[in-house]
Amino acid sequence: MALTVSLGEGGTPLVPAPRLSERLGCDVWLKWEGANPTGSFKDRGMAVAVSRAVERGAPGVVCASTGNTAASAAAYAARAGLPAVIVLPAGAVARGKLAQAVAAGAELREVDGSFEDAHMLARRLAEVEGWVNVNSINPDRIEGQASAAREIAEQLGGVPDAVALPYGGGGNTCAYARGFAEIGGAMPRLLAVQPADRAGTFASAIRIADPVHRERAESVAEVVTAAEDEIAEWWRAVAQTEGLFCEPASAASLAGVARVRPEGRVVCVLTGTGLKDPDAVERL
Ligand SMILES: *Cc1c(COP(=O)(O)O)cnc(C)c1O
Repeated sequence: MALTVSLGEGGTPLVPAPRLSERLGCDVWLKWEGANPTGSFKDRGMAVAVSRAVERGAPGVVCASTGNTAASAAAYAARAGLPAVIVLPAGAVARGKLAQAVAAGAELREVDGSFEDAHMLARRLAEVEGWVNVNSINPDRIEGQASAAREIAEQLGGVPDAVALPYGGGGNTCAYARGFAEIGGAMPRLLAVQPADRAGTFASAIRIADPVHRERAESVAEVVTAAEDEIAEWWRAVAQTEGLFCEPASAASLAGVARVRPEGRVVCVLTGTGLKDPDAVERL
């Protein structure tokens, strides 16, 4: 698909993880989504959503964000020459992500409340002003993110036995299910890994109390719940044994694999780069 607005997203490395494989008793591969242009998988969907917004002649884009959607929307809107309004839960967004949104010239609006409050306001703004909402309720986002499943199958020369990914709002879980369904054949076992403390987890990218895609996500994937110290432990492990510094939320994928112990070839999706959340390193 030719995109009107692209920053070269996708085509990210799939890195074998021999030491984690030994620890986890399966063949672990890491899909390094931190290599996307703004440092998270959100770019895959944002490229499609902002391209469509431009094609429809939208006056601007709006979203709510725990951070990575903000960074991505701001960058793709800048590229498209469109204004972006981003609604953030006050004080809950990692420093690197805020810096990216500010640098790209997005208008930030903080709400005193949760991600859900921000999400509601973003939807209302889109309705009132005729702007395009680029949260994952926008189906273009899911379509764009499904490309990761096709890439993994190409890189491995077949679909893996299992794919584990962090479960925040669940949009990405739905996107992977869709991507693998489009390939046809056997579906990999999908593990959607959520933090035990959804509303307060230190993994801010998945600090979402009430997932907007819950119904669909939980019908296509097995939900696994990981404790805070498990997420932190595997976040350390991936950096210190394989050399990839991901976001805390990304490490939920490995924490889920450690709990469930799937067999065969297992892809853990490392959804974003650790550079986004420098303050979290104090937990290491
Ligand atoms: C958005 C995000 C998630 C969660 O994805 P959902 O589609 O909300 O489930 C996980 N990790 C990172 C780094 C993210 O940016």
